Amino acid sequence: MRSFVSDDAAQRVVFGVGTLTTVGAEIDRLFVRRVVVLSTPGHAHLADRVAELLEGRAVGRFAGAVPHTPIEVTTRAVDLVRDLGGDGVVSVGGGSTTGLGKAVASRLGVPHLVVPTTYAGSERTPVLGETSGGAKTTRSDPAILPDAVLYDVDLTATLPWSVTVTSAVNAMAHAVEALYSNQATERTDAMALDAIRSLDHGLHAERANLDDLDGRSDLLYGAYLAGGCLGAVGMGLHHKLCHTLGGAFNLPHAPTHTVVLPYAMAYNEPAAAVAMDRIAAVMHSDHAPTAVQSLVRELGGPTALRDIGFAAVDIPAAADLAVSDSYPNPREVTRTGVIELLSRALNGDPVLRTDGKTSA
Ligand code: NAD
Repeated sequence: MRSFVSDDAAQRVVFGVGTLTTVGAEIDRLFVRRVVVLSTPGHAHLADRVAELLEGRAVGRFAGAVPHTPIEVTTRAVDLVRDLGGDGVVSVGGGSTTGLGKAVASRLGVPHLVVPTTYAGSERTPVLGETSGGAKTTRSDPAILPDAVLYDVDLTATLPWSVTVTSAVNAMAHAVEALYSNQATERTDAMALDAIRSLDHGLHAERANLDDLDGRSDLLYGAYLAGGCLGAVGMGLHHKLCHTLGGAFNLPHAPTHTVVLPYAMAYNEPAAAVAMDRIAAVMHSDHAPTAVQSLVRELGGPTALRDIGFAAVDIPAAADLAVSDSYPNPREVTRTGVIELLSRALNGDPVLRTDGKTSA
């Protein structure tokens, strides 16, 4: 018989092409009168555009978001919002900007609207990772979940190809691990499979034509669904490993997800055969880890950890960290297993099939 626990949090989502023009109306729905717009330094022009669209509702901008949400940056942004009498924030950008928005809004207890421009999915989760003195801490709190998300496909049209590929595979990873999560439900399964289908389709469309707006729409829709998976169920070995590699070895977020995903899938395959079969089916393949690895190769994405800043000498320490605490994962996570996984990922070796054959 069907049995599940669902803890849905409330979040308004607007999705479409050109939706940014509704940002003023969306802010009014949140009863916010004095908005501060957040962005990275490189996307200050986007923050300007949002502030213009907000007309008299925008009281300032903070274009200082950087990766890993350092506390010092958050403190500066919080002070600015306070000084300006801000009663809400809009984050426009990728996961780095969304992280800052979550940190600021949760500290001040003000509404937060996110306009995502990558496929990272952070806008759909109540989770925040912050760094202080080089150490990263992660917390989850319903108050961290942004109140509203405005997805505008137009804003993703400027994403360079390399970021498009790695960010989309980052999103795919949320959906893959949701399928074998011990908290999975029929609804998250459906979301995850639809996300993988949409991301795979969007990547192929963009490869043929980087200006294809339908392909961009598929990618952003896939990211929306995959972010929903990330916010709804716990993740496993893949996310733990990427968190470790990013936090302790400073590897770049989305490229790390892109390299590791096929190896984490191959590791988990013996204990997650049904999930792998379902992923393979939506990707028109007979082997899910190989399908993901082939896709990344075909698209020219990164396939080896040594190419993104990781060295063989780091493997034992990374394996120690990955097994230092327990977390739900379909297959038992052993130090030897993680060392073998990282050794293959270091060189971009073909993923192993559980039937012993080598593919790709
Ligand atoms: P990011 O925000 O740093 O953006 C990646 C790159 O894309 C940057 O160089 C940025 O300048 C560029 N970019 C963004 N939008 C663009 C656009 N429209 N056109 C051109 N270039 C654009 O990184 P990200 O990959 O989006 O997010 C990664 C961060 O988010 C990490 O810190 C990660 O930990 C965090 N994250 C958190 C969660 C969560 O639930 N807490 C989930 C996913 C990611």
